[in-house]
Amino acid sequence: MAKKLLIDLQKLREYKDTPVEGVLKFGEYAGSFKTIRELASFQFSCRRCEKAPCLEACPSMALTKNRDDIVRRATLLCVRCKSCIFVCPFGTLMDDLFVVKTSGRSFIRLHGEKDLQRFADSLPGEVASITDLEEEPARQVFSLSENILIKEFTWR
Ligand code: SF4
Ligand code: SF4
Repeated sequence: MAKKLLIDLQKLREYKDTPVEGVLKFGEYAGSFKTIRELASFQFSCRRCEKAPCLEACPSMALTKNRDDIVRRATLLCVRCKSCIFVCPFGTLMDDLFVVKTSGRSFIRLHGEKDLQRFADSLPGEVASITDLEEEPARQVFSLSENILIKEFTWR
């Protein structure tokens, strides 16, 4: 069975200035890449507010909800004003979520097993590890993609 990367999102939050950020090619936006932080936060931490304050606060109409009610950000529309972060009543969105820090920070496209290992090695051991686990909601382990698992205490 293929190995997977397991990321503890709570612990990743504590490491804002990691020199390496993992990114995934993201299907809904052809050709664009999204950080693990962003994808996992919107998918597992966000409470999917019915009348979402983040969408209302965005001056660029960069935020929308997909058919599963998951918030998505159009990277090219976002002006990184952080309004959505400030109005979110649940603190879902991390302060540095949309900040592009290219200087001194590298981005690893998490594709094959080697990429996963390189990313895991770049973070403290308690944040990311390579595992044989599968998705197990009862243990707060959820599948973000084919080879990435996220541990997060979801609101549901
Ligand atoms: S306000 Fe926060 S919790 Fe509500 S939909 Fe937006 S990001 Fe999610
Ligand atoms: S940071 Fe981006 S997505 Fe958030 S409110 Fe500002 S423009 Fe919209």
